[in-house]
Amino acid sequence: MRLFVAAELPAEMLEALSETSAALRSTVRGRYVAPDRFHVTLAFLGEVPGSLVADVISAVEQGCEGHASMCASLGALGSFGRARSATLWQSINTGDSLPALARDVRESLRVKGFSMDEKSFLAHVTLMRAADLSQAVLPMPVVEKGTIDTVTVFKSDLSGPHPVYTPLERILLEDVEPVSF
Ligand code: ATP
Ligand code: MG
Repeated sequence: MRLFVAAELPAEMLEALSETSAALRSTVRGRYVAPDRFHVTLAFLGEVPGSLVADVISAVEQGCEGHASMCASLGALGSFGRARSATLWQSINTGDSLPALARDVRESLRVKGFSMDEKSFLAHVTLMRAADLSQAVLPMPVVEKGTIDTVTVFKSDLSGPHPVYTPLERILLEDVEPVSF
């Protein structure tokens, strides 16, 4: 089955991303990601035999060990690919917390023998695919902050008219240590 590992976002950030997506609808043509599928991919595994799913989950759990839930904020819009057929995204700022989590999750999966896409991690939420940015004047993105506390192993099914992501396991990051004076 097709697997990927992603950080999920709190409701207030999902709401802001939905508002940005709605604002883009009037200016950019392309394929919009439905708001209930917004996520931050940490590792893309692709096809993995069903018999190894439990090993993937335990590797991701180990990779998350020692990582606390983190403050995150939405940032600027950015894109990958060609201007007429781009992937359009909004960045996620956490300082080094999310890159460090992605690094450790990937490393833990690698140690267990899983291979994955090796593109360097750039924290973002994809809002559109095949976006025509050649003429578009992009709106200002809506910004919001919140706490990221969940890492999820998703199964992705691309056989239907739109991708269907099914959470196989949700891993809760440790609570942030209370600050003591
Ligand atoms: P579709 O491919 O139909 O547009 P999708 O990209 O949402 O749908 P998947 O291709 O299963 O669904 O991807 C799941 C997640 O993994 C998405 O966040 C996607 O951007 C990311 N992803 C997919 N392929 C790769 C890849 N080769 N490298 C890195 N991330 C990837
Ligand atoms: Mg894809």
